[in-house]
Amino acid sequence: MKYDYLVVGSGLYGAIFAHEAKRKGKKVLVIDKRPNIAGNIFTEDIEGIHVHKYGAHIFHTNNKKVWNYITQFAEFNRFTNSPVANYKGELYSLPFNMYTFNKMWGVVTPEEAEAKIEEQKKEAGIKEPMNLEEQAISLVGTDIYEKLIKGYTEKQWGRPCTELPSFIIKRLPVRLTFDNNYFNALYQGIPVGGYTKMVENMLEGIEVRLGVDYLENKEEYSKLADKIIYTGAIDAYFDYKLGTLEYRSVRFETETLDKPNFQGNAAVNYTDAETPWTRIIEHKWFEFGKDEDGNDLPKTVISREYSSEWKLGDEPYYPVNDDKNGKLYEEYKKLAEKETNVIFGGRLGEYKYYDMDAVIASVLNMCDVELA
Ligand code: UDP
Repeated sequence: MKYDYLVVGSGLYGAIFAHEAKRKGKKVLVIDKRPNIAGNIFTEDIEGIHVHKYGAHIFHTNNKKVWNYITQFAEFNRFTNSPVANYKGELYSLPFNMYTFNKMWGVVTPEEAEAKIEEQKKEAGIKEPMNLEEQAISLVGTDIYEKLIKGYTEKQWGRPCTELPSFIIKRLPVRLTFDNNYFNALYQGIPVGGYTKMVENMLEGIEVRLGVDYLENKEEYSKLADKIIYTGAIDAYFDYKLGTLEYRSVRFETETLDKPNFQGNAAVNYTDAETPWTRIIEHKWFEFGKDEDGNDLPKTVISREYSSEWKLGDEPYYPVNDDKNGKLYEEYKKLAEKETNVIFGGRLGEYKYYDMDAVIASVLNMCDVELA
């Protein structure tokens, strides 16, 4: 065996494992089927702007260990995510907070907002929320559900809110304060120089082969190392033999515009059902300093994001963590446990709607065991 570890996938999970293994004196080879490193956090330079090619990634965490870890590889700016919701031309602040409630109902005090939510929740007759719709209404009331949640969520997930798990909406804070910060996180920002540079730093001194599809020749590649760290889709690894897990895929239409400012914010969510895209990202506004001098850059790059059901050949982005898929995943997990020389990790390897910080925590835990 030439290597101690073959890491399949150079995203956050794979790159951090590779880094830690190398640090422990292990021989590591990283392969990735794409022509570039960094998986879905890959950023590409267009017109001097770091474009998030596989969707907007805003780093945020409450985990100090994770923050201390990631900041070894990049400096982070002080970007705070505060998306704007556009419902048929009406603009609302996100996440749901006093600015949103004031615009929606004209309420001025937290008590008035709370009373309004309580009244709408009561009218809807929800006691124990059983799905995303009921969860949303009991958190923010029917009006906000109808204008800011229903259309967006059904476009993003391609399923009625009544059939979606409630945990998805619990990702968003609801606040009775005037605070447009989307994340309840102590640490937040975008790596200065882009995510690709950050992953490059993780992979420094490690052999990386790009454009190599592990699953096309699994047996041969597996012979290269004692152990495999596999970060691709778990069902694909087993050639979908128990059936396909469901994923949502995303398509981006990226455009460079000859104007300095298109929408005045990094993210605008289109929360009605009719607009075909879910959101528009204007990448320049992720970068610190651009809020003062971004208008000096004559151009801007925007991406319209379209959500679709994943089918064979598409890129999987979001696992659909409902009961049906949960059960199938458990079956795949049993198969995975029998592959004693393979560790499955990351959003696709564990079929889990992980944020970046949770991926980092998960791989660091794995390293503690595997590289002890
Ligand atoms: N969501 C919504 N309206 C919005 C933004 C989000 O209803 O304007 C809901 C939607 O169900 C979405 C979930 O909140 O799937 C989580 O959103 P988040 O922004 O965390 O999703 P991500 O950034 O991971 O795509």
